[in-house]
Amino acid sequence: MNIIVLGKAGSGKGVQSEILAKKFNLEHIDMGRTLREFSQKKDAIGQEIYAIQNVKKTLVSSRILREVLHLKIGSFRSDQGIVFDGVPRTLDQEQYLEEALQEFGRRIDKVFFIDISKAESIRRISRRWNCDHCGKILIMGKDIKKETDRCPFCQGEITRRKDDTPEGIKKRLEVFQKETMPVLEYFRQQGILVELNGEKSIEKVSREILKNMPD
Ligand SMILES: [Zn+2]
Repeated sequence: MNIIVLGKAGSGKGVQSEILAKKFNLEHIDMGRTLREFSQKKDAIGQEIYAIQNVKKTLVSSRILREVLHLKIGSFRSDQGIVFDGVPRTLDQEQYLEEALQEFGRRIDKVFFIDISKAESIRRISRRWNCDHCGKILIMGKDIKKETDRCPFCQGEITRRKDDTPEGIKKRLEVFQKETMPVLEYFRQQGILVELNGEKSIEKVSREILKNMPD
């Protein structure tokens, strides 16, 4: 079973992917985390990713993304299901992903698009902070009360992603509109896209996803 979960920033795609991974015993592939994991390795591609992320501080190229997807998918047993969280974001990435899946005898079974409005995305992301230590996402006004607070779970220091500001989010939403919407359209034409209202509670969205899971 190969599932894709897509959505704008703040849609809850990470949480929903995690729920699916637990429930169906799927490998959860989040590109950011996978790249970090590869960058810790001492092999050629690991060193290359490390240099791009920590020295050049730019985004990894399509070639690297393609190679990483290929290596990652190839590392699982063929009957191991996967949930892709936030990948593919562009038509190029969609092509690499499909090629890599095909090579290992897999296909995309279902794509979930968790839709929220631009205003809701901005509202949610503006309240989002991260714990530097345990990596948990912390919500201002709920988990923390002010910028000088520490993580309530581990007392680690909290920071905010540089682009988790209203301007940063607006830019990301424009990129989503321009680059990811065509990917969704592609999946819609394939008849495998399920669109959900992501402004409902996590539990309600999760129930909708479960109802639409392939057999
Ligand atoms: Zn923490």
